[in-house]
Amino acid sequence: MNTCLIDPRSLLEYDFGPHHPFKIYRLGLTFNLIEAYGLIDPEGCVLSPRLATEPEAQAFHSKGYLECLRLASDGLWTPNLFSHGLGSGDNPVFPGVYEWGMSVAGASIQCAEELLSGRAERAFNPSGGLHHAMPSHASGFCHVNDGVLAIQALTEAGKRVAYVDIDAHHGDGVEHAFYERSDVLTISIHQTGRTIFPGTGEARDLGMGEGVGACLNIPLLPGAGDDAYARAFEAVILPALRAFQPDVLVTQLGSDAVLGDIVANLRMSLLGFEDRLKAFRDLNVPWIALGGGGYDVANVVRAWTMAWATLLDADLPDAIPPIWMTEASVHGVAASSLRGTNERTTSPDSVMLDLEKTLEYLNAHRHTGESRAM
Ligand SMILES: [Zn+2]
Repeated sequence: MNTCLIDPRSLLEYDFGPHHPFKIYRLGLTFNLIEAYGLIDPEGCVLSPRLATEPEAQAFHSKGYLECLRLASDGLWTPNLFSHGLGSGDNPVFPGVYEWGMSVAGASIQCAEELLSGRAERAFNPSGGLHHAMPSHASGFCHVNDGVLAIQALTEAGKRVAYVDIDAHHGDGVEHAFYERSDVLTISIHQTGRTIFPGTGEARDLGMGEGVGACLNIPLLPGAGDDAYARAFEAVILPALRAFQPDVLVTQLGSDAVLGDIVANLRMSLLGFEDRLKAFRDLNVPWIALGGGGYDVANVVRAWTMAWATLLDADLPDAIPPIWMTEASVHGVAASSLRGTNERTTSPDSVMLDLEKTLEYLNAHRHTGESRAM
């Protein structure tokens, strides 16, 4: 299996600021743990991010927004900054913010290029998955929507793409980009928008026009737990993916659904996260994995190290190599066990009852392989 990993270390010069929950240094600690586990093949494909080009980014973003972002990045604040969602607490302007966004996007496009060229069958951009960015405004810590741009590179080459987003928050930017398209299936499982940003992602939102049925949302009640995820995957997500028969699977692996996150409350265990990774892998489809949210750094690092191991078909021992613990302690981050526990989290009855109603609704409305052939 040929794989490709984006090395995020050139991105560590950027910083959302000391009080922002989005910590770019988590990418460096992820790479360090991957390396400490011996999962970097010196002969293998490890790429540094390149900048997305303006024409590439304009496949989704408006010229005006990109111009405003570029000027702000250089310290020139234009009057329309705030209408583009920039300069807010969520989406700060910092030196090099344009290069940050365009590098993350370029890295995800590189993953698409590796798959399209046949050089790799699986690729991972841990810095990617910035799923809230919209055509003309930044949103939810996301300035440039790398996932959309990578999927567009794939569809322009004639590929059918399935996108699955397991971040705690609804993947609204990616859904928006492909809401009326039948060649991109978007699936988002997230904490219900009634309780968390961005407030969208209801089960009834199924796409529009040709895209009806190629968009699925599974909102979960707070406190969801592993049982709910397992049930949603078995009952809807995996059947929908199999029926869609994608050429490429793109997954957004935000790890803010993991137990202990400070912004969401979905109680997924790291074992449960690994279960989801294995389910993706077992679909046996060329696979691009992207990062995403995640605000407990030790959880993020462990979840994404498991992701890279899963792409490699490697089994990792649970004991974290001591060399990583020393590096992590510089940032006040500590973990000694990869999975943290041997127990999955159970789901309250109220969560499961609500979920069953959602699954019933989705199974009645989603596209099936048969209806696509008609
Ligand atoms: Zn999130």
